[in-house]
Amino acid sequence: MGVAHIDGFALFVENALPGEEVELLVVKTGKKFGYGKVINRLSESPERVPVENHDLLRSGIAPLSHMKYESQLVFKQNQIKHVMDKIAHLPEVEVKESIGMEKPYAYRNKAQIPVRNINGELTTGFYRKNSHELLPIEDYFIQDPKIDEAILVVRDILRRFNVKPYNEEENTGFLRHIVIRRGHYSHEMMVVLVTRKEKFFKGVEIATEIQKALPEVVSVVQNVNTEKTNVILGRQENLLLGREYIFDNLLGKTYRISAQSFYQVNTEQAEKLYQLAIDLADLQPTDTVIDAYCGIGTIGLSFADRVHHVYGVEVVKQAINDAKFNALKNELENVTFRTGKAEDIMHKWVEKGIRPDVIFVDPPRKGLTESFIDATAEINPAKIVYISCNPATLARDLKHYATLGYKASSIQPVDLFPQTNHVESVTLLKKIK
Ligand code: SAH
Repeated sequence: MGVAHIDGFALFVENALPGEEVELLVVKTGKKFGYGKVINRLSESPERVPVENHDLLRSGIAPLSHMKYESQLVFKQNQIKHVMDKIAHLPEVEVKESIGMEKPYAYRNKAQIPVRNINGELTTGFYRKNSHELLPIEDYFIQDPKIDEAILVVRDILRRFNVKPYNEEENTGFLRHIVIRRGHYSHEMMVVLVTRKEKFFKGVEIATEIQKALPEVVSVVQNVNTEKTNVILGRQENLLLGREYIFDNLLGKTYRISAQSFYQVNTEQAEKLYQLAIDLADLQPTDTVIDAYCGIGTIGLSFADRVHHVYGVEVVKQAINDAKFNALKNELENVTFRTGKAEDIMHKWVEKGIRPDVIFVDPPRKGLTESFIDATAEINPAKIVYISCNPATLARDLKHYATLGYKASSIQPVDLFPQTNHVESVTLLKKIK
């Protein structure tokens, strides 16, 4: 959002870029800030590109789609610079230019689409920002177009079978979300139908129709989520058709991916990011390596054949099952995967006397805990490679690492999420002797 200051009061304004002059309507105010809406644009930023679909801004699917791609890359680089200055107080760490995509759209290999009733019809789309009002959308712009197509095919089949869409206010109705994953290289497709109740009338028939209409589908899963919650997936799953996972490739290895497992949504850029991380680590054949927050094992397994041993830890059981399977599938025997919280398992490994040379960390947005950071420092590896999806927690954690003698010389942003405000980066930390 653009930020306008009026007598010191901040207003956040959708579809406004730095330097632009606009007439705006104040739509909401709080004690410290408010929101404004552009009524009339009086001048245009040279960084602006025409917005073809305003719903992509309104829904937050592509909140930067009004900004030139080169400017988006600079914007992300500056975000990291800003927090390294303001939060980490380490302005001397160089923040490199973001590595972008040649075609910065149609990249997402996964879609999570809410299903609601609009005018009596089961409709797919996306929520309006900061609300749960569904905007009907057919072209999601940043998703694999084959996934966009599949959403409509699945929607039409659900309509034909008279499936009741979920009603969030009343927690009634049946079908909550459609989740689709498509392997970037394999083109294998998984369709997950998230339902509020377990009993799925004609569920197998519906799955069969989906597979008939979409030959790439190798898996149709019912996920049951009975709770009144924003979390998309529930715990319970029933296989409706095919297998419980798809396969895809990353950096030359094959991976099994289950519905509950994390998998980077931008395969092309994830490969660049992981290759960079691996290069930074300068791995040696004698190295013992920890892959913390390992998901299905994509980082550790990429280089396991070039090091002595890899230990991986991840909290989601299904992901660890995938990781173990993936090790076997790629004929890698020098790997150990454990289910658990990274912060707990790390302490156990320390007690066991495991002494890694390199630790990779790839935590979720909330970053690392202090106790995890202390445990890694206690292990005393020569290098820590930090892959981050949140500059603010990265900066906080780098500050803590600095007090323990681990220093970064530079941070490399890689744009995994073009057209959105998400910032991904990789940093090498070295122990200063
Ligand atoms: N490295 C993997 C996954 C990164 S996403 C990949 O590149 O595919 C972060 C992962 O951390 C997710 O799989 C999530 O389930 C896991 N996670 C979240 N909190 C965790 C914790 N406290 N301990 C271990 N893993 C955790």
